[in-house]
Amino acid sequence: MPDPAEELARIFGFSDFRPGQAEIVEAVMRGRNTLAIMPTGGGKSLCFQLPALCREGLTVVISPLIALMRDQVRALRAVGVEAGALNSGNTEEENAEVFAALDEGRLKLLYLAPERLANFGTQSLLHRAGCSLIAVDEAHCVSQWGHDFRPDYLRIGELREMLDVPLAAFTATADAETREEIVNRLFGGVQPETFLRGFDRPNIHLAFGAKDQPRKQILNFVAARKGLSGIVYCGTRARTETLSQALREAGHPAICYHGGMEAGARRHAETRFQQEDGLIVVATVAFGMGIDKPDIRWVAHSDLPKSIEGYYQEIGRAGRDGAPAETLTLYGADDIRLRRSQIDEGLAPPERKEADHGRLNALLGLAEAIGCRRQRLLGYFGEESQPCGNCDLCDRPADVFDATDAVRKGLSACLRTGESYGAGHLIDILRGVETEKVRGRGHQNLPTFGVGKDLSKAMWEAVFRQMMGRDLIRPDAERHGAFRMTLAAHPILRGEETIFLRRDTLKSSERPAAKALVSEEDAPLLSALKAKRRALAEAQGAPAYIIFTDK
Ligand code: ADP
Ligand code: MG
Ligand code: ZN
Repeated sequence: MPDPAEELARIFGFSDFRPGQAEIVEAVMRGRNTLAIMPTGGGKSLCFQLPALCREGLTVVISPLIALMRDQVRALRAVGVEAGALNSGNTEEENAEVFAALDEGRLKLLYLAPERLANFGTQSLLHRAGCSLIAVDEAHCVSQWGHDFRPDYLRIGELREMLDVPLAAFTATADAETREEIVNRLFGGVQPETFLRGFDRPNIHLAFGAKDQPRKQILNFVAARKGLSGIVYCGTRARTETLSQALREAGHPAICYHGGMEAGARRHAETRFQQEDGLIVVATVAFGMGIDKPDIRWVAHSDLPKSIEGYYQEIGRAGRDGAPAETLTLYGADDIRLRRSQIDEGLAPPERKEADHGRLNALLGLAEAIGCRRQRLLGYFGEESQPCGNCDLCDRPADVFDATDAVRKGLSACLRTGESYGAGHLIDILRGVETEKVRGRGHQNLPTFGVGKDLSKAMWEAVFRQMMGRDLIRPDAERHGAFRMTLAAHPILRGEETIFLRRDTLKSSERPAAKALVSEEDAPLLSALKAKRRALAEAQGAPAYIIFTDK
């Protein structure tokens, strides 16, 4: 069978699974009866589309709305997948085309309106066509409790028995009654493999830190968590080696792991990590897929991950046992430059590159956030929530200032020098420093020369980094990282929008380990918060993280 992760990239152009998708896809691929409950926008369609494409035979998708079917069929065809739909909205020609594709065994996905199941010929048609999987979208429609009840959904159970193939059901409705009805009506009362989850992992503390001296920052973070098992993710293979070396020299048990190591060495590292208490793995993203260690207490990123999906997956390896776990993600202007140029210089088509820039922007927005990080992270995955009480910005609100004036000065320096320079030279101009380069180009005569004396060099660096993070300026890989202004900057330049930036992002990496942080007066508050989170986690099915009810 083709590898789903590869097909995800090849067919759909996505480089990572969304939270929960990988586990669900795997279960469906194995032919298990599956019930997946995931918030709206979480990416349920992919959880049956991808297995349908990787498995033999035809997948029938029962979907309640013609518009939903049309959208999905159109999107699938656009990426070269043989998909079709049978519903009352079809023309004769469309029907003929679908039947022909079925006869020739070409079709991989057939979307079917539930009414069709009342039609006598449908079941034998599906049987002849080699149907090997039934997917039920919006499965709550089988429930008489809800508003969406569709009587024809009741026939799906019959179809499953008649065809004797696995069934995968999907819904965003998580209440217990609906779930029970789905199990009774679609699965004959036998509990399928069930995935019930919101995206929140409330026991994981989220924190970002501006990259200053990354090695020292990581060493400090690790030293404050001595003896605890953790993972440090690095952007390059070379860095995993130097950083693991530095950790060992500082007296920590650390090993490195990356895709360039031979298979035997990698397996050895995985086994050691599973078995040894307190071992630290310094790794590239190659590490993690097969790792199922429940008591990883922390995950640190010495470099910015490549997307918000990647970030979620990597930090999600911590604290699977539900006990408190901590994370720290370092990021700096160089990370932004590196990730941007990786996208720009990649081989992907232009629209895919734009999407990748968008996903990077989402992560940068999280890094430069001024409100609760979890709220923002969950919001990206379509889940609404309250401030979490378990991230660095809930611990200590960001120190923000109205940076409209500074940003306008920065943009103006960038424009007046022909968008030909990076932060270093622009900051010299703004701060009125007459370097050789400044004098050589006559930049001491610019109207922006010296207008930014009120801010320190470090502060200007933070401003430029955040301007990059907000995608107001983009480093151009082909011109040594010279900044180009983006359209998003226009309203600020024209004085139509104000912008607030963080004054400091340096100190969050120096956060001491959780227990040391609690002062005596805060302790009751914190334990109340923790109890609330634990209750929340239990209500959502954590700490199991994913519930497999039929084991
Ligand atoms: P749901 O049915 O759960 O409401 P959809 O299947 O409609 O959600 O997916 C919501 C959006 O998420 C779609 O635009 C889809 O293309 C996108 N999406 C799904 N999986 C991924 C992924 N792994 N990476 C990026 N985007 C994804
Ligand atoms: Mg959907
Ligand atoms: Zn928070």
